[in-house]
Amino acid sequence: MGLLKTKTKLTGRVIFKGDPGYETARKNWDPHTNKFPKVFVFAQKTQDVANAIRWGRENNVPIRPRSGRHSLEVNLSQVNGGLVIDVSDLKTLKLDKKKGTVAVGTGNTVGRIAKTLARQGFIGGFGDSPSVGIGGITLGGGIGPLQRTIGLISDNLLELKMVDAKGRIIRANKKCNSDLYWASRGGGGGNFGVYTQYKFRTIRAPEKATVYTITWPWDQFEEVLKAWQRWAPSVDTRLGSELSIGPKKGGNVSMIGLFLGSKTEAIRLLKPVTSVGTPTKVIKLLPYPEAVNFLLPPDPVLTQKFSNQFSSGFGRRPFPKAAIKSMREFLEKAEGGTPAGFFFLNWGGAVSRVAPRATAFYWRKAKYYVEWNSSWVNKSNAARNIALVRNTRRKLQPYIVGSYINVPDQGIKNSGPVYYGANFPRLRRVKAKYDPENVFNNPQSIPPAR
Ligand SMILES: Cc1cc2nc3c(=O)[nH]c(=O)nc-3n(C[C@H](O)[C@H](O)[C@H](O)COP(=O)(O)OP(=O)(O)OC[C@H]3O[C@@H](n4cnc5c(N)ncnc54)[C@H](O)[C@@H]3O)c2cc1C
Repeated sequence: MGLLKTKTKLTGRVIFKGDPGYETARKNWDPHTNKFPKVFVFAQKTQDVANAIRWGRENNVPIRPRSGRHSLEVNLSQVNGGLVIDVSDLKTLKLDKKKGTVAVGTGNTVGRIAKTLARQGFIGGFGDSPSVGIGGITLGGGIGPLQRTIGLISDNLLELKMVDAKGRIIRANKKCNSDLYWASRGGGGGNFGVYTQYKFRTIRAPEKATVYTITWPWDQFEEVLKAWQRWAPSVDTRLGSELSIGPKKGGNVSMIGLFLGSKTEAIRLLKPVTSVGTPTKVIKLLPYPEAVNFLLPPDPVLTQKFSNQFSSGFGRRPFPKAAIKSMREFLEKAEGGTPAGFFFLNWGGAVSRVAPRATAFYWRKAKYYVEWNSSWVNKSNAARNIALVRNTRRKLQPYIVGSYINVPDQGIKNSGPVYYGANFPRLRRVKAKYDPENVFNNPQSIPPAR
């Protein structure tokens, strides 16, 4: 530390390498992404973030913002020798029932927000894990079973507070810094600055909602997938559906989701898929807060032991035979014992009503989202699993478009247009305006326009 120039002092809860708490501080959800940063700054207020950015620049230390620790690729929220500016202690949460808005510190998790709002009769977006940070998920889009009703999590963002590369505090909304506001809804984390506060629109929750979990034996996956792909994108938009297909060894097929309506109607709407094969069905009408709890079982960050490689894309039409064959090869090769598989989520409704250029999130016109992953515990198995996922991407490439920046794959070359489609050039211009020196960068971050 003595060697560092210390014009600006680090403030907040500061943990250098070797300090107590360092090992816990560097544990991300996915152990594969854990690195050995020089220092963690847990900001207690926005000024701590500003000081940290200035300190990082004065001392030439690479910066990584972090919120919920759920990044799915390496060198995003931690980097060896770097400064991690962690906002997870910024946990304010203020609901304004009259205005239908909620202001949150970016250190909140998706689960805390969705559950707190639900108890007060409002809807907050969520995906399949409660511990994902609102900090990261919002910037990349934020997908989940409610999106056909309320849009992406980022579609509900009204205003933000961000600290830029010079340590200046910036606000953005529809009227002020509207280019940054546009870019922050789908442009992805770690690109423009460190965000400390978001304000979202929220709507009244129904009193009750129907949730369901339907499971099938693994060998029925082809029939189920075919039925799901025909049905899910066009079913009633109050119905969200996540279809997971596990590895051949030890896996099964499961469909989880919710319907913002009655159980009788849900049973009727689910029929085209539940009439396939021999499913086991759990379908229940619950008070809305309990429905949220049902869909967000605990997923603690510090105890997750599997390292993962993910890849993602969007489907515009049902997977043809050749694509399903590649899926089968993947599911047969994934060895079992560690999580692996395919995951689909239906598109349409509110997500697809927003124009692709209206926010930075481009892939609006798809029928469904798809991701697949393989995982390992021993480092010696990493390369094989990473290769399996990336080879499968090459095979599926003819049948998908784009990729979701929140579920990135650093095997994708020239990734800008893949994540952002036709929005990439504009994102580069926004980057040049707010961070021309590229202080906020990571392996697939947006380069400033020249
Ligand atoms: C178990 C699991 C389930 C998931 N389920 C879903 C899902 O259902 N739907 C969905 O949309 N996504 C899902 N994701 C993906 C998730 O959206 C991304 O991993 C997201 O980036 C995580 O945000 P975070 O704040 O938790 O992660 P972090 O690791 O803290 O950060 C992720 C990225 O965002 C940047 N970032 C974080 N906070 C800030 C900030 N305050 N300012 C600037 N940049 C910031 C980081 O630098 C990094 O690049 C899931 C991920 C996991 C691990």
